[in-house]
Amino acid sequence: MNGTDEKDEWIGLLRDGLERLEQGFASLPEYASSAVAKSPQASAVMAQVASRLTDNYPYFHPLYAGQMLKPPHPVAQAAYALAMTINPNNHARDGGRASSAMEMEAVAEIARMFGWGEAGGFLGHLTSGGTFANLEALWVSSQLAPGKLVVASEQAHYTHRRITAVLGIPFEAVRCDDRGRMDVNALEDALRRGNVGTVVATLGTTALGAVDPLAEILALRERYGFRVHVDAAYGGYFRLIRSDLGESAASAFESMERVDSIVVDPHKHGLQPYGCGCVLFRDAGVGRFYKHDSPYTYFTSTELHLGEISLECSRAGAAAVALWATQKLLPLVGPGEPEGGFARGLAAGRRAALELDCRLREDPRFSPLPCGPELDIVVWRVSGASNQAQQIFEACEACGLHLALVQLPGRFFEANESERVQCLRSVLMKPEHEEWLPEIWRRLSVAAER
Ligand SMILES: *Cc1c(COP(=O)(O)O)cnc(C)c1O
Repeated sequence: MNGTDEKDEWIGLLRDGLERLEQGFASLPEYASSAVAKSPQASAVMAQVASRLTDNYPYFHPLYAGQMLKPPHPVAQAAYALAMTINPNNHARDGGRASSAMEMEAVAEIARMFGWGEAGGFLGHLTSGGTFANLEALWVSSQLAPGKLVVASEQAHYTHRRITAVLGIPFEAVRCDDRGRMDVNALEDALRRGNVGTVVATLGTTALGAVDPLAEILALRERYGFRVHVDAAYGGYFRLIRSDLGESAASAFESMERVDSIVVDPHKHGLQPYGCGCVLFRDAGVGRFYKHDSPYTYFTSTELHLGEISLECSRAGAAAVALWATQKLLPLVGPGEPEGGFARGLAAGRRAALELDCRLREDPRFSPLPCGPELDIVVWRVSGASNQAQQIFEACEACGLHLALVQLPGRFFEANESERVQCLRSVLMKPEHEEWLPEIWRRLSVAAER
């Protein structure tokens, strides 16, 4: 939610947009709609909706620093709401002509962010989220290398194990090093055993924001030959500020140009409402696997329909419109560019994470991960009894600071290998977190004293 002025402003944006949209359809004969927008009953229902929705953590506020949640940009909200009045379906051009074209443009901008598109083609589209985007990437992998293994690190998102089970693809987890990144020696052991078709490299793990060593993985590809799929659902946008990252993460983001497929979630770091993932394939030829004959075909134009390169059928055109609008306002360019406001926002969250890590390191009550945060996620353990993290988590809640909990292998903290450590975790993904860090720290300190 925005402050009151901002809320008025985005409603103003929407109202202006609606007016323009109506003008565009002004030549239609008038008709009486059976839907009534404003009635005492509708107002009563909306009052109930608003009151039910207050039963949420304040995800939009900087004091919410727990999970991967941040509000969509006001322009994304207004564009989504405007498009929703038309409710286009990006399954086919006939169902969403303008929004299909906008999806292709927005996806091409994302591909360009990864260094794709200048040389050679690519294929890509939006999905309902990262899970489905990864499913499509692994499905294409399995079509290219039937029966071969998919491997991902033990810190990869649990969705990879589940997706491969759904698709009937054999799966193996590869051990991580003590920073939560895929251990390339363990990967090479798996490659020597043979039958690996695809390696999933996670650039920004969900728990730690750890970045798998993509350049080293690509070097192994030279020797062993396999597909490389990058799951950058969370971390993908950090490519824009790779020079602000540690050396190993920077090199991984630099190497994205050379992979076979990429997943990124605009609904995580891309300021979009939920329902917006994206999958990209380097070789546009994989489109052949999607070929289908729809008996309901409303594919009346000869141009490419997104439903011909997507496993999902109906998809929200409004999601594409919101993304297109956001990227027009905040282009996917580096923080040094005059239009680089989006990248500067990412960099602010990153600085907040480094500042929190620094304060934790100086405080004997806490021990953060020895390696520090690779992106904007900070994880730390609490000295003393094993249930302390849970207690501090609850005390923070009582102080109005919302953090998260995560269980990690003890070796990440140079502790016992078999021990699982309950840790506190904070995702500092809003630009405002930088300014709010002193207040976040104050509340955490008060909670830890209790
Ligand atoms: C969030 C996430 C996913 C799952 O994406 P959804 O959009 O939640 O379906 C997959 N991989 C990584 C690394 C993620 O962070």
